[in-house]
Amino acid sequence: MNSELILRLVSLAAAGHRPPCGDPDTSGYWTSEDPDERALAQRRCRGCPALRECLDEGLTTKATHGVWGGHDLTNMPKATRSRLRAKHLAATTDDAEALF
Ligand code: SF4
Repeated sequence: MNSELILRLVSLAAAGHRPPCGDPDTSGYWTSEDPDERALAQRRCRGCPALRECLDEGLTTKATHGVWGGHDLTNMPKATRSRLRAKHLAATTDDAEALF
């Protein structure tokens, strides 16, 4: 896990918050084999304060399964992943919504 994501998650925890994927009732959606559950996870990522760092982690580690930063990287075609990476790099820190 990259240091930016770790720092963001630690900062959230110190403030008494956890990201939506940390809810024990639904945390399995992020890595579910069911695409409908992963779609639900994607929607729940919106507004997460760690979204940008999380997407960076998924793309940098070339994750091939699960939802990262509001995007389902499961079997994502290489061309789609490349476009997402370019969009991610172009977005400003304050412009997380531009990542969708
Ligand atoms: S953006 Fe990342 S840390 Fe935030 S809820 Fe989604 S998967 Fe969890």
